[in-house]
Amino acid sequence: MYINFTAMKFKLPELPYAQESLEPAISRQTMGFHYGKHLQTYIDNLNGLIEGTPFAEMPLEQIVKQSDGGIFNNAAQTFNHTFYFETFSPNGQRHPEGKLAKAIEKKWGNFEAFREEFSAAAVSLFGSGWAWLSKNADGELTITKESNAGCPLTSGLVPLLTIDVWEHAYYLDCQNRRAEYVKKLWDIIDWSIVEKRFE
Ligand code: MN
Repeated sequence: MYINFTAMKFKLPELPYAQESLEPAISRQTMGFHYGKHLQTYIDNLNGLIEGTPFAEMPLEQIVKQSDGGIFNNAAQTFNHTFYFETFSPNGQRHPEGKLAKAIEKKWGNFEAFREEFSAAAVSLFGSGWAWLSKNADGELTITKESNAGCPLTSGLVPLLTIDVWEHAYYLDCQNRRAEYVKKLWDIIDWSIVEKRFE
């Protein structure tokens, strides 16, 4: 039997936690649709679009940096969602420590002030998109808002933390109340993971 490995290039990432374990911040039902169906669809679309093109030989981050149109949309959504889901844990470290904590204090004064600015960026983003915390080439922290599949990799930034504010991320749990969804995410972000990205 002939197996086409190229068509299976990207696969749904395995989660390091059970799908119900982020409740009540994110419900099992939302995980089932958001992770199980929306992310799977982006991955399936990406695999179909890159088949037989030079992108089929590239790692995901390189595709995000070099593509546009449909390939970019599906590659960036695959990257963004994987990054988002991998930031959470049911029993993680709930505050930044070490060098990252110092960098946040340097820029915002304290963690609470950072959290307010990041939440405001997520809540105020018009339409569908992503709020990001990233590190620039000088090692400084920056908050950006990206529409649709936008990803800081294309601006040469190192992404550290993101919040998905597409309605599919929160509508089953919070309906139109995006601020309520954003507030609950602070209970499941694992800062030990964000710190590893910062190093
Ligand atoms: Mn999403």
